[in-house]
Amino acid sequence: MASISLKKLNKTYGALTVVHDIDLEIADKEFIILVGPSGCGKSTTLRMIAGLEEISGGELIIGGDIVNDVPSKDRDIAMVFQNYALYPHMTVYKNMAFGLQLRKASREVIDQKVQEAAKILDITHLLNRKPKALSGGQRQRVALGRAMVRNPEVFLLDEPLSNLDAKLRGTMRAEITKLHKRLNSTFIYVTHDQIEAMTMADRIVVMADGHIQQVDTPQNLYDRPINMFVAGFIGAPQ
Ligand code: ADP
Ligand code: MG
Repeated sequence: MASISLKKLNKTYGALTVVHDIDLEIADKEFIILVGPSGCGKSTTLRMIAGLEEISGGELIIGGDIVNDVPSKDRDIAMVFQNYALYPHMTVYKNMAFGLQLRKASREVIDQKVQEAAKILDITHLLNRKPKALSGGQRQRVALGRAMVRNPEVFLLDEPLSNLDAKLRGTMRAEITKLHKRLNSTFIYVTHDQIEAMTMADRIVVMADGHIQQVDTPQNLYDRPINMFVAGFIGAPQ
C-alpha cells in the first residue's frame, strides 16, 4: 500500500520558508498533479517525498510509516526528472539495468525486467544505442523505463515533458496516463503546465508561494475555483 500523507510539511532554507505547512492525503494508486508557477515549491515538495531533500518540519507518512528519516534508497519510490539524467556512456539497456545491478538482482531478472519495460515503452529497438543517438521523446521513454524496472509503488515525475516539443508533449501525456493505468502505482507529477494537469490528473494540487491553494478534481477546480489565483491559473491560456 502506497498511500502517502503529508502532515504540516515544511521546508526552510535558513530564514526562508519555501514550503509552508502542507497537508495532503494521496490515495494508493492515485495520479495526483502538483501545479503552480515556477518557484512555488513543487520540486522541493517532490524531493522531500523522494528523500532527496531533508524535511524541516512536519511528518511524511508512506504506507502508514513515518519516513522522515528513511534514506532515499530505502523508499519504494522512483523519480523521473525533466532533464532525463541518463548516463551518457552507457547504452539504453545499461541505463535501464544499472539500478537493478546496484541492488544485486540476477542477470536473468534484470534482462526480463528491462525487456518487459522496453516492450511497453516501444524502445526495444533502441536498447543498444547510447543516449546521444536518441531523440528527446526516446530519451524520456528510457528515463521512464529506468524507473519502471524497479516496480516502485510510487513514481515521482518532475516536469518530465517540459523539454519536448508541443506535439510530442501531447503524445507523451497520453502515454504516461496509459502507463499509470497499466502499472497500478501511485503517480505524483509536477508541472507548471495547467493543460497537462487538467488532462492527466485524478486530482490537482494548486500551489502558490509554498502554500496549497486548493486540492480537487480537474472538473471541480474548473467549476468551483476557491479564489482568483486558482481561477486565473486554471483558466489561463497556455
Ligand atoms: P518549483 O519546482 O515550484 O519551481 P522549487 O521547489 O524548485 O519550485 O523552489 C521553491 C523555492 O525554493 C524557490 O524560491 C527556490 O528559489 C527556493 N530554493 C530551492 N532550492 C533552494 C536552495 N538549495 N537554497 C535556497 N533556496 C532554494
Ligand atoms: Mg521545479
